[in-house]
Amino acid sequence: MSVQRGTQYLAIPGPSVMPEAVLRAMHRPAPNIYTGELIDIVETIMPELKQVARTAGEAAIYICNGHGAWEAALVNVFSRGDRALMLATGRFGHGWADMAGQLGVEVERIDFGRRAPIDLDRVEAALRADTAHSLKAVMCVHVDTATSVRNDIRALREALDRAGHPALLMVDCIASLAVDPFEMDAWGVDVMVSGSQKGLMTPPGLGFVFFSPKADELRERAGLVTPYWDWRPRVRPEMFYQYFGGTAPTHHLYGLRAALDLIREEGMEAIWARHARLARAVWAAVEAWGEDGPLALNIADPACRSHAVTTVLAGRENGTRLRDWLSARMGVTLGIGLGMATNEDPNSDGAFRIGHMGYVNGQMVMGVLGSVDAGLKALDIPHGSGALEAASRALGDD
Ligand SMILES: *Cc1c(COP(=O)(O)O)cnc(C)c1O
Repeated sequence: MSVQRGTQYLAIPGPSVMPEAVLRAMHRPAPNIYTGELIDIVETIMPELKQVARTAGEAAIYICNGHGAWEAALVNVFSRGDRALMLATGRFGHGWADMAGQLGVEVERIDFGRRAPIDLDRVEAALRADTAHSLKAVMCVHVDTATSVRNDIRALREALDRAGHPALLMVDCIASLAVDPFEMDAWGVDVMVSGSQKGLMTPPGLGFVFFSPKADELRERAGLVTPYWDWRPRVRPEMFYQYFGGTAPTHHLYGLRAALDLIREEGMEAIWARHARLARAVWAAVEAWGEDGPLALNIADPACRSHAVTTVLAGRENGTRLRDWLSARMGVTLGIGLGMATNEDPNSDGAFRIGHMGYVNGQMVMGVLGSVDAGLKALDIPHGSGALEAASRALGDD
């Protein structure tokens, strides 16, 4: 018998849960795109987005998903034949590198595997070896949503500086923005890409590229730039329509405005602290389950784990079995294992992911953890006891 009827919970790492306020803000007839409220709210959205990214640089909005934002960032910086270094810590780093390669950028990769963050000593050595400074950019993903690793971007900037290398630092914060602490200017990031559907709690469909004056200098010579993806008219529009290269994404903008209101009310530091607390509850539960049986956190070091998403190794096929059971029986959908395949398990079926980014609170996380606990029991997957007690303590202690 299923107890699945009721509010469904999509606990995957994006699209994340949308607040009622965001949904309500979008439920309206088509607005005037030439004058009036829509124009006014875009004037407020731009500075607030920059505050969320902690930058005094520029922000461009595109009507696209995260992949579109990836491409926008690449074409404004590179020419065919340019060299770049990708520091890959999971599937998304490889995806961005593949795209750059397809555009004609020569991407050198350092692959840190699926269970570890960027090793800064290796990065520094690679940069010192590039004595001609032919690498135009160092690229990485802040939180790789496949592995749930979180990289230390501030320390990465310090490694670039120690090596005395002038490459741009380009970072994908699609999963981490407004979830894990991130300070674009203080950490010396030149280009940052993000999207609307994760920490920003708005439907998929808006891509953001933030960039520094140094990155904009490269735009001067970027041979790959095309009219639609050019970031310049979007940050210095002479006409309103240039913000979006055409018709504005009207309803997304209303939704984003409502999401930014929620973010401002709560405050960035409080948002970061909430996500840290929720993540600790998830980790405590998985650690308890892992005391006996196959479950384990993919990232061993808590300092290198994201607060947005947790990748759990569950043993051959158990990830998929649990996901199927939870969605059919409990009304909770977990994220699939992504790029976590091994020789033993070629389809990543042995992993699942819990998204805890965005508009998520304690009862939602406890509901997911309780559902996983029920699934482990129903499916006879061996596990340690006390997971929910451990999560309760992580949520309740001060
Ligand atoms: C979700 C995600 C992407 C891809 O975004 P899409 O909107 O699916 O194109 C890229 N990088 C990271 C880190 C992500 O979490």
